[in-house]
Amino acid sequence: MPDGPLLVYGPRSLAYDFGPNHPLSPRRFGPGIELLRAVGAEPGLAPEPAADAELEWLHAADYIATVRRFSRDPGGKPVAGIGPGDDPAFPGMHDAAASVAGGSIRAMEAILRGDVEHAYHPGGGLHHAMRARASGFCIYNDVALAIARARRDGLRVLYVDLDVHHGDGVQALHYDDPGVLTISFHESGRSLFPGSGFVDELGEGSAAGTSINVPLEPLCGPEPWLAAVRTIVPQLAAAFGPDIVVSQHGADGHVWDPLAHLSLTTTAIGEAARLVDRVAHRYAGGRWLATGGGGYAVYRVVPRAWALTWLAGAHREAPARLPSEWRARWAGDAARWDETPLPAGFDDLPSLASERSLSPAAAVRAKETVSLVRTVLVPALLGVAEERGWWRPDEGEPETAARAAPAAEAPPAGSDPTVVADLTTEMVERLALSARVVAPADPRVAWELLRAALRDGAVAAGAVIGEWLVGIALAAPGAPAAPAQTDGVDRLVALGVAPAWRRSGLATAMLRALVDEQDRRGRALVALHTVAERDVFDPLPRAVRRGVAESLARASGMIVTAAPPRIAAADTDARIAIHIPPGASPDLRARAGEWPNSL
Ligand SMILES: [Zn+2]
Repeated sequence: MPDGPLLVYGPRSLAYDFGPNHPLSPRRFGPGIELLRAVGAEPGLAPEPAADAELEWLHAADYIATVRRFSRDPGGKPVAGIGPGDDPAFPGMHDAAASVAGGSIRAMEAILRGDVEHAYHPGGGLHHAMRARASGFCIYNDVALAIARARRDGLRVLYVDLDVHHGDGVQALHYDDPGVLTISFHESGRSLFPGSGFVDELGEGSAAGTSINVPLEPLCGPEPWLAAVRTIVPQLAAAFGPDIVVSQHGADGHVWDPLAHLSLTTTAIGEAARLVDRVAHRYAGGRWLATGGGGYAVYRVVPRAWALTWLAGAHREAPARLPSEWRARWAGDAARWDETPLPAGFDDLPSLASERSLSPAAAVRAKETVSLVRTVLVPALLGVAEERGWWRPDEGEPETAARAAPAAEAPPAGSDPTVVADLTTEMVERLALSARVVAPADPRVAWELLRAALRDGAVAAGAVIGEWLVGIALAAPGAPAAPAQTDGVDRLVALGVAPAWRRSGLATAMLRALVDEQDRRGRALVALHTVAERDVFDPLPRAVRRGVAESLARASGMIVTAAPPRIAAADTDARIAIHIPPGASPDLRARAGEWPNSL
């Protein structure tokens, strides 16, 4: 294995050239590749054009024919997004764009074969290209094609897009595929191209919940941005259980970038890349394809962002300072393009962000958006587990001592499970947890989490066959953030049954047992059902999921109502279910009814 990610770069990338005054300039490869070499990366895979049959995995055949026509005759009448503006035609544009796609596809294949663990394609990440339309400097969607390549092998893909622009093309091309989870952090479409990427773009049909968008306001700054990445990516990776991570590391969120306004630093960009590396190792067997993306401060920002991304995959710290030879080599060009002075270090000085480049209001809005995304798109069990300290999503490997079935194993079908009204920690420790019962994709993590929950005072009903736990209904006490308001109120955080025992009334029986237990204890039970609550390996269509959740809740004596407007605006199928114990005080009734508004 090479010392660090396989670096995908070759002369054909330089041919992707919209002209001297276009922001996406091949000028960036000179300083970028030289800095990568200075930190130890050597080009190891030179991109060659992808075959038409490969491009056709996602692109329309007549669109490819159109690109070929412009390639021969750039003067043709503008069509399919190609023409004056963002995506002008140029001679040889098909070969150039197909080479970028070929680079990402071959890099994916190197990872799939196990030749390398990580690969990095700085010229890739052309995430705006659509099925039959060029957009935002992108002709063919190399990242979406690399994902399609992994899907052809049946692998589940987590895609993380850190470019300042919404990853609309990748989202659109995999919008109805429940096996691809896309997460995009970007400047809001209200102020920036392409104008999309709002929280309510959740995915379609059975893929609802697999399209995640975190729109941030201009001048948001590095801390809120990094906090968003930290509190969303590992959590969703744990829920989704990817086989491979693909990421796009556009450098255009930087405060010096001329096209956008998020005011990030290279320090934050590097830290986000290291987080993606950790997520790949913990949740995807180490398989990680990273690409570049936008970035239009060609001398001051892009080379450092590229080097930091590669170093993240090499598991090495950046040197303290930029090599003086590199700075000497590029100082003149930087001055010519009005990018002076060149910085001294890989990381930015903390003083880089000034009052003019940061907005406290945008930071507050970022927190609200992240909270909404977590409420709607992270399974309740994982959100509560993290808040209550049952589990840390971005730390270490799960304990190997955990008793849980590998995903393929299951207890013998045919026999009837027994519903146990009040599971204890001791019982769970004697039982193995079947796969695909509750939220974490890895049943070992689910088992650990369940054990920690019961120790912390959670109440669970379970379905047991022999040594196996094949169903769980779990209620967590209160909300740590609002102990007074949630006194006497528990939240239903998980309700699930292993695939072989579904549609047999088991979930209703467990939920009834839990509701009865709540009555005995005089405590209320509240549930929020969103698109996050699904079997990620074989999700039902969105409307069916909602119907099942509603009838389960009603059959168990809960009252179903609409979700609060803030949640419903993001997820129209979200529902609240409430059970109040008989004889509850007006005070408890009020608190249980009020709780959904605090979510
Ligand atoms: Zn790594």
